[in-house]
Amino acid sequence: MMGGATARVPAKINLHLGVGPLRDDGFHELSTLYCALSLYDDVTVRAADELSVTVHGESRRQVPSDATNLAARAVVALAAHAGTDPRVEITINKSIPVAGGMAGGSADAAGALVAAARLWRLDIERDELLAIAADLGSDVPFSVVGGAALGTGRGERLLPVLHRGEMHWVLAVAGTGLSTPDVYREIDRLRARDDADRPAAAGVARPDALMQALASGDVHAVAPLLHNDLQPAALSLQPMLRRTLRAGREAGALAGMVSGSGPTCAFLCADADAAVSVAAELSGSGVAKAVRTASGPVPGARLVQNN
Ligand code: ATP
Repeated sequence: MMGGATARVPAKINLHLGVGPLRDDGFHELSTLYCALSLYDDVTVRAADELSVTVHGESRRQVPSDATNLAARAVVALAAHAGTDPRVEITINKSIPVAGGMAGGSADAAGALVAAARLWRLDIERDELLAIAADLGSDVPFSVVGGAALGTGRGERLLPVLHRGEMHWVLAVAGTGLSTPDVYREIDRLRARDDADRPAAAGVARPDALMQALASGDVHAVAPLLHNDLQPAALSLQPMLRRTLRAGREAGALAGMVSGSGPTCAFLCADADAAVSVAAELSGSGVAKAVRTASGPVPGARLVQNN
């Protein structure tokens, strides 16, 4: 078909997710170390008479195909910025788990921005695109830039992080998703309950040791430094995830944790062979609906050749 543009966009995990206090605007102050992984959604945008969204992939029924789809919202926002009409047909080929804590919706928004900017031949500065991305969602700017980055504010303020080598991961995808707002509400509830033992805002300290380990490229130094403040909340809402985390470690992963707001669990492995073996064992154990291997950091949203 003529006149289309396709962007390929990676999933993310948070190697560190520090959650600070609730801000007046309803968001939490975050200090997070994002890492983009080689699990991708493809977002194609073509000129059409009206805005439409079609989703392909196993999880298509869990994704809205109306104007609430984040990719549609992204195209509308970019069109408003450019003074044009958002009359495009958006096609999403989805591989990133939905409501899995891997920023699937944000990836589609980032892909739609990059693809529509190309389709419309917009002369838009990177910073302008990132500002539109940040308005769409806290994780959208990172989905645009990819790699490894420190996120502050509500996650939208990014600094690139030096990293060496490739890390190999196994992802255990759960049968039922978790809503990100629910997980944040649960962490607030748990913290209010345990308030007495919690040092104020400890979570937002910068993960310096982890950043050094990433720069060294030593996966064995990275493993013990992985941290997610949201994990207790995700485990509280889906207690079965404890079994998944245990199974991954028993299968030989160096470390395992809930990815972002969950429920996907991410396991860091020593190398590519170890990841294949951990994935095989986890698949056999039946603790997850699906098991995938992925590596990273990988680049963010990028245009790919359209057939
Ligand atoms: P995050 O890691 O950013 O918190 P997530 O990976 O847990 O997000 P998403 O896959 O982004 O969650 O989906 C969250 C909800 O957003 C879904 O339940 C779905 O209804 C809605 N949604 C809107 N647009 C999309 C999209 N393009 N892809 C997936 N979900 C979408």
